[in-house]
Amino acid sequence: MKSMLALAAVWLLSLPAMAGTYAQTRYPIVFAHGMFGFNNLAGVIEYWYGIPEDLRANGAQVYVTQVSPLDSSVARGEQLLAEVQNILAISGAAKVNLIGHSHGGQSVRYVAAVIPGQVASITTVGSPGFGSPVADLVLNINNISPTLESIALGALNALGDIIDLLSGGQYTPNIQASLTSLSTAGAAAFNASYPAGLPTSSCGQGAAVTHGVHMYSWGGTSVFTNFLDPTDALLGLSSLAFFGQPNDGLVGQCSSHLGVVLRDNYDMNHLDEVNQAFGLHAWDVDPVALYRNQANRLKMAGM
Ligand code: CA
Repeated sequence: MKSMLALAAVWLLSLPAMAGTYAQTRYPIVFAHGMFGFNNLAGVIEYWYGIPEDLRANGAQVYVTQVSPLDSSVARGEQLLAEVQNILAISGAAKVNLIGHSHGGQSVRYVAAVIPGQVASITTVGSPGFGSPVADLVLNINNISPTLESIALGALNALGDIIDLLSGGQYTPNIQASLTSLSTAGAAAFNASYPAGLPTSSCGQGAAVTHGVHMYSWGGTSVFTNFLDPTDALLGLSSLAFFGQPNDGLVGQCSSHLGVVLRDNYDMNHLDEVNQAFGLHAWDVDPVALYRNQANRLKMAGM
């Protein structure tokens, strides 16, 4: 009887430490943020709102990286590469599973191209692989008024500076390099050097595996998804640059395609894709569940 009680006590004590295994991938999951992104602001506000916690509770080993909020695709890729090499050293893992949102998609594609042997998979979410007309539009202000362009870029750089400061970064924001990389022409230039996973036909699927790296993507095509979320209005404004073509407020439906396109038209806008702001999203799709499901997909594939 005493031993049974002792066993029961041990079982009860072990309960809080028990995590699920649904998201328990073989290799660590590493998150790479987008434009104006961060790991967390003032140590409180997460970019990937509630997502790492959910994956950890389901057994995954998760790392959240930080690069410059505003810089070119290659510069941010180099910064992520350094972080990934640190993570590989710290964790002792042979490979990582990279997940990039928005401009973070180019970062994970860059790392996969440079060290394919140490990347099991990349997943891009709402990433403008073929650029964004919003970047084209902002850069085009220069043709109308160089003064207005200078004011606009100055204000955006200042915002990048504040984000970098609040998130304890160490980078000098470069809005011109960021927008140039995210423009249609800048994305095409990056793609010429880093074509892995891109669709070979218009708006098609890309190769599922390149140089041993598995590639996936998903995206959204809604803009106004939650009447309580004030960021919907900002995305409503930027979505005007698409002239009615399906988009998530900043990225077009086909521009998000990479590797295996899991789905390109979720009822999500660009910020819903990372469960912002503060978990406010459409009622019919849970952004956190998409990451949990993707972790399970990677797990089942032995990654
Ligand atoms: Ca939202």
